[in-house]
Amino acid sequence: MLDVEAIRKDFPILSSKMNGRQLVYLDNAATTQKPRQVINAIEDYYTKYNANIHRGIYKLAEEATAMYEDSKKKVADFIGADGIEEIVYTRNATESLNLVAIAWGEANIEKGDHILISEMEHHSNMVPWQLLAKRKGAYLDYIKINDDTSLNMQSLKEELEKKPKVVSLTHVSNVTGTINDIKEIAKLVHETGALFLVDGAQSVPHMKINVKDLGCDMLAFSGHKMLGPTGIGVLYAKKEILEAMPPFLGGGDMIKAVSYQSAIWNDLPWKFEAGTSNIEGGIGLGAAIDYINKIGIEEINKHEKELTRYALKRISEIKNVDIFGYGYENLEKRAAVISFSIKGVHPHDIAQVFDKEGIAIRAGHHCAMPLVKRLVSNGSVARMSFYLYNTKEEIDKAIDAIIKVKKLFGVE
Ligand code: PMP
Repeated sequence: MLDVEAIRKDFPILSSKMNGRQLVYLDNAATTQKPRQVINAIEDYYTKYNANIHRGIYKLAEEATAMYEDSKKKVADFIGADGIEEIVYTRNATESLNLVAIAWGEANIEKGDHILISEMEHHSNMVPWQLLAKRKGAYLDYIKINDDTSLNMQSLKEELEKKPKVVSLTHVSNVTGTINDIKEIAKLVHETGALFLVDGAQSVPHMKINVKDLGCDMLAFSGHKMLGPTGIGVLYAKKEILEAMPPFLGGGDMIKAVSYQSAIWNDLPWKFEAGTSNIEGGIGLGAAIDYINKIGIEEINKHEKELTRYALKRISEIKNVDIFGYGYENLEKRAAVISFSIKGVHPHDIAQVFDKEGIAIRAGHHCAMPLVKRLVSNGSVARMSFYLYNTKEEIDKAIDAIIKVKKLFGVE
């Protein structure tokens, strides 16, 4: 059991007010709040050892370099990678996915090739592939989803018969919370010889991930969704893939030697990190992982499941409220992201009433327009999402807010 009361004390923002009410933060799928430990780590960097990394031969620079590299070791251990050579820092999950679509895609995709993604992708895992397909004259194919929001395995098998060169799939949907069986899918994908990239933006912060066990070739995620600062993201990729792949951006730090017409690339992972790095971001992410490890990712997951079960059960008892995704009877198939709608009320109106009550939720297309349009004709749903610091009392407040919306809009 998590000591949620003690955890909440580590997050300064959680004791603040929004619109005169105690803040209830239920938009964790968008970004998470930061504990004092992460904020302090960033402040320490700027006040005690700020210097550029990999360049200076003085103590401050060595300290900054060691802390930055140490954060990569923490990331590698956190997801079960072989070492820091397999951990590339980017700005966010979006940039990680673009990195693959651009650097790997330019070198490997040709006219007439197939690229395979699914109907439940975030725009970050859709638009980079659309751009690549257009540039190359390749086909962008979609794995269909079932009415219960799960991936259609028959459709996956059919699409794999087209022998795609790359399959890029989300681990957890940021709209329905549906968890894809990546382990099983990885086996099918690899039988065809395709590269398998996983969007872990909504899974890495919330469940135990081991890339070896999952069987993916690459994994993209964001620091800010796991208690870390914004502006730092991760691309994990098997060493041999990164070795074979051309660089993404050119510049300082990503080279070993440069002459007028050519350059020799730096060792991994630095070959993929051109220019001065987001040093504070790396250090902050390292502190975030320390924090998660201290609590235990499995304990966090259990807590989220309990909150999700409670919320789903309570919402399902309210008339004229629809939940998109699995119900509380199928907790093992879904994560702590609950999209819902109230009959006859626009989701923006729901979010506005919540806001007045001090409750932060998200409403709209959630950067997954094709999926949300498939779920509802107006292409908009309300969404609440939980993390380690949320409580059942906060869910009770959200339920009261739903009832208030219904009253205000005269819904039976
Ligand atoms: N993929 C998924 C499934 C997401 O939920 C998000 C963020 N909502 C992203 C990718 C993109 O993350 P970021 O904006 O941090 O790049």
